[in-house]
Amino acid sequence: MQPSGNYHPIPGEYVVPSAPPSYEEATYSHQPYFPPPHPGMEGKPMHPPPHVIHSAPMQVPVTVQTVYVQHPVSFHDRPIQICCPHCNRLTTTRLIHSSGALAWLSCGGLCLLGCGFGCCLIPFCIDSLKDVDHYCSNCETLLGSYKRI
Ligand SMILES: [Zn+2]
Repeated sequence: MQPSGNYHPIPGEYVVPSAPPSYEEATYSHQPYFPPPHPGMEGKPMHPPPHVIHSAPMQVPVTVQTVYVQHPVSFHDRPIQICCPHCNRLTTTRLIHSSGALAWLSCGGLCLLGCGFGCCLIPFCIDSLKDVDHYCSNCETLLGSYKRI
């Protein structure tokens, strides 16, 4: 290159990029310099928040547990009044006794004690040893059951 001057040797090529663009380069040079530092400085404090978002999915199952609030009814061996979720009517449950774990354990216990074939079947005839199923008296839907064991 010739050190005499920038405009003289190649006026056609240098005039266009050097002289007029000097203002544009100034404007362009400022824009790329400012953006990097701002997002860089603000980017660091922005990183922690995404970690907090991970706790949000953990709260989703909590809303599902609220469904169980509708079933805090404790069934016992006596009829209870309950609003049937199937027919939406307030009804008194109808009890049906079924041989549960306690009846079978009593049967097995009687067999171990040497009771005869007929005696070990006695627990299946005693309602107090059986599980109780609560059915809706209107639509015959099983609303719940009471387990002895
Ligand atoms: Zn019902």
